Parts: sequence; structure tokens; C-alpha cells
Amino acid sequence: MSERKVAIITGGSRGIGAAMVDKLGELNYNIVINYNSDHSKAKAQEVADAVSEKYGVETFLVQANVADFDSCQHLVDEAVQHFGDKIDALVNNAGVTNNSNWVDVDHHAYEKLIGVNLMSALHMTHLVLPYMVNHADKDHQCNIVSTSSVGGLTGVINQADYCASKSGIIGLTRALALEFAKQGVRVNAIAPGMIMTDMLRGVNQDELNALAATIPEGFIGDVKDIAGALGYILTAGYLTGQVISPNGGLVLS
Ligand code: NAP
Repeated sequence: MSERKVAIITGGSRGIGAAMVDKLGELNYNIVINYNSDHSKAKAQEVADAVSEKYGVETFLVQANVADFDSCQHLVDEAVQHFGDKIDALVNNAGVTNNSNWVDVDHHAYEKLIGVNLMSALHMTHLVLPYMVNHADKDHQCNIVSTSSVGGLTGVINQADYCASKSGIIGLTRALALEFAKQGVRVNAIAPGMIMTDMLRGVNQDELNALAATIPEGFIGDVKDIAGALGYILTAGYLTGQVISPNGGLVLS
């Protein structure tokens, strides 16, 4: 068993999750990297190999559909069997979008979205917290960080299910932060603005330019902007129950 801290990240195979894996490696965590699709296996392996080579940390891949409780149980069991019964960080990052108007959207599609984006965070926090409270205290804090969205802070047209899931993440974050503050577990969320990943790759250049023009900073963000927020949260000992939103000024309150 290694003495490094241990992190589990859901949806670590690509996009924001892959950049977060790199940040966890930089912070010297051994990392359980979850992905879901068969076609992402090679990509997830690449992400794992790159971070091990760059920082010398150990990685362990687990394929699991985090919308499903039993699959989450499998993911956590595998993590504990591989790295031991102390988990220091959980990053709930897996997410999908439907981008459909609320009349046309299929109810199976929004049930699936709520499963991946919100139920996964309920399942994973429920299953991982016992492996945090068994060793966390003020001097050895554990962290739960979940990826919300600006859609969780504001409404977005054709994203009712997505916005509901991402607001749910914020509610979960605040409640768990209160419940576990005295036990040394900090719970925070990141609400990214528009970030260039596969989620935006279907959008054509004209639409991307139009989107960028709505952002006060004038450009679409990079995955490193979100990984940077993760790094800050993991090292900011007095921060809990908060939502950090790197969004180029898209949401100003
Ligand atoms: P992405 O490139 O499409 O990556 C999505 C990730 O989620 C992949 O690793 C995917 O795994 C994983 N995933 C999807 N369904 C899963 C399931 N059922 N079980 C386990 N993993 C699953 O998206 P991204 O842009 O990096 O998004 C990451 C997070 O940021 C999401 O929560 C998203 O809502 C949020 N976000 C993104 C933006 C943006 O503009 N990009 C803005 C705000 C918030 P596979 O590779 O196996 O499919």
C-alpha cells in the first residue's frame, strides 16, 4: 500500500476530467481513474500512463457507469482493494448533456442525464465518505469536489435537465459541507463556463465565434482553467461549501 494520498475521479478519460487527472498527479495523488465507454478505454489508458510518467504517481483504471449504484459500489470496492481503505479526494466530474427543447426531449434521455450528472454524485459521496471520515481531521483534510456548471447558477435555453442536475450538485455540495465540516472533509464545487471539450466539438466555427462573443473575456476557456480551480480547492484548507466558477465573466453577480 502506498503512502501517497488517494483520489478517485469519475469521467477522467478526456476533456476536463483528463486535465484534472494531470492536476491530481501534480499534487502527488495516486489516482483511480473512472471512465465509461468501451471506446474511451485506450484514451483513459493514455491519460493514466501520461500522468504516471510525468509525476511518478500510481494510477488505476476502472470502467463503470456511475449513473448506476451497483457500478459505483464496484468502482469504490476496486479502489479500496487496490489502494487501501483511506480515500483522500473524490472528484465527481462525469457528465453528459442533451441540448434539446423541453417538449421534444425524450424522458429516457433526461432520466439518463440526471443519473450521470447528479445520481452519480449522490452514490459516490455516499459510498466514499466512510473511507474519508475513518482518517480525516483538521490536520489531514479530505476533499469532495464536484463539477457543476454555469448552467447550475443560471438558466440555459434547451438545457432544463442539465441545469437541474447542475443546481442539484450545488445543493448536495452545500449540505455535505455542513454535515462533514467538523470531521475534516471539505466539500466544494466548480461551475465552469464554456470550455473547449468534446461537449462543444459539435458546434461549428461560426457558432463558436458567436458563443465567444457572449463571454466578457472574449474567448472559450481551456480545460487547464478548470484543473487550476481543482488544484486551488484541494489546497485551500479554509474553503468549504463553495462554488468556484471560472467562466470568463459570463456570470457576474
Ligand atoms: P466530455 O469531454 O464529454 O467528457 C465527459 C466525461 O464524462 C468522459 O470522461 C466520459 O467518459 C464521462 N462519462 C460520461 N458518462 C459517464 C458515465 N455514465 N459513467 C462514467 N463516466 C461517464 O465533457 P467535459 O466537457 O470534459 O465535461 C466534464 C464535466 O464538466 C461534466 O460534468 C460537464 O457537465 C461539466 N461542464 C462542462 C462544460 C464545458 O463547456 N465543456 C461546462 C460546464 C460544465 P467516457 O469517455 O467513457 O465516455
